[in-house]
Amino acid sequence: MNTTKQEIQSAPFEALDGMTPSELFGNLPTPFYLIDEKMIRRNGRVIHELSRRAGCSVLLAQKAFSNFGVYPALSEYLTGTEASGLFEARLGREEMPRGEVHVFSAAYRDDEFDSIAEYADHIVFNSPRQFKKFAQRAKDAGCSVGLRINPELSTQKEHEIYDPCAPGSRLGTARDVWDREMSDEDISQLDGIHFHTLCEQDSCDLWATLRAVEEKFGDILSLASVKWLNMGGGHHITRRGYDMQTLERCIRYAKEKWNVKIYLEPGEAWALNAGFLGTRILDITENGGIKTAVADASAACHMPDVIEMPYTPPLWGERRNERGGIRYRVAGPTCLAGDIVGDYSFDRELREGDLLLFGDMAIYTTCKNNTFNGMPLPAIYFHREDGSIETLASFSYEDFKCRLGRK
Ligand SMILES: *Cc1c(COP(=O)(O)O)cnc(C)c1O
Repeated sequence: MNTTKQEIQSAPFEALDGMTPSELFGNLPTPFYLIDEKMIRRNGRVIHELSRRAGCSVLLAQKAFSNFGVYPALSEYLTGTEASGLFEARLGREEMPRGEVHVFSAAYRDDEFDSIAEYADHIVFNSPRQFKKFAQRAKDAGCSVGLRINPELSTQKEHEIYDPCAPGSRLGTARDVWDREMSDEDISQLDGIHFHTLCEQDSCDLWATLRAVEEKFGDILSLASVKWLNMGGGHHITRRGYDMQTLERCIRYAKEKWNVKIYLEPGEAWALNAGFLGTRILDITENGGIKTAVADASAACHMPDVIEMPYTPPLWGERRNERGGIRYRVAGPTCLAGDIVGDYSFDRELREGDLLLFGDMAIYTTCKNNTFNGMPLPAIYFHREDGSIETLASFSYEDFKCRLGRK
């Protein structure tokens, strides 16, 4: 990644406008998620301007962010939604009713397929086998159909679990498999091509990917029957310092070269730095010189990517990249030894009851959390532009219990 750390890390608390978390959110019961309308709209405008200038359509990948109470605010800026399967496709159709619904799944189930085709406008298949099995049914239901390709070019090494081009990957069809399995008749049915290879990346990596796509699949994209190219997600479009000109160059290049309609389907970029997770300190422990602030939110339950990716999220008031300060490990209250958010340093001592605010918590959080250890799910709030705070969802013991059985 090209952007300097400082640029990335100065952004997560922009939404506070210089106020402290306690001044703004001190009355909310913790733990809580809070989504910020001003930042959602800021991201939305950046993406909408891009689509207008470059002439492309941009979808919301719902697997990253699907708090549908925010969809009315987002709907002005996007073309539609992207879904990973039946439930997200239905959510997109129901809650973003004027938008297109695009679906990609690594494998579709026979018993769900016709329902998916009812909700969808575009269906993308992962393999020639799935394409042969379902494409005609999708077309009969009025859907445009595509195949996901694998350009076999890894452009990042930091997070291997997010690299669909890693050796042996099941995601996307490589050219040698394509040549063995796609008949001329199959190819004549194809309306579009899809690739998704990036994760939190800048547009120079998209450019490199596009060249690999051209080298391996340029002949397919040149066919008159291929009408669209979906360049997937992972474009960190709304991050400070993102190279927008190169992204526009990629879009124009593909449009002119192959005469195709261009779709992008970022998830993160729509809600980047547009949410927080608030938590209060329950206790401070000490062992071997390490002080741990035990908070009422859990990394494992409420911010699982901290452990899965892994990464250390920004925390309001921390002295990141500065020497000195008082060091604390911030951790969750569960019994998992590794339920640790990260090590941070502060200008002052932390105390029981202090409010901690983690930044960039709108994405891959509310749609991915769990109730391990019987942890309660945090309520989800929407901080409106006028300063009011709306409750999108709140949870209780019943939400924990109902997923384990019914009495
Ligand atoms: C994950 C995913 C996206 C969204 O990725 P972001 O990194 O959130 O932008 C888009 N398309 C597909 C096929 C995906 O798997």
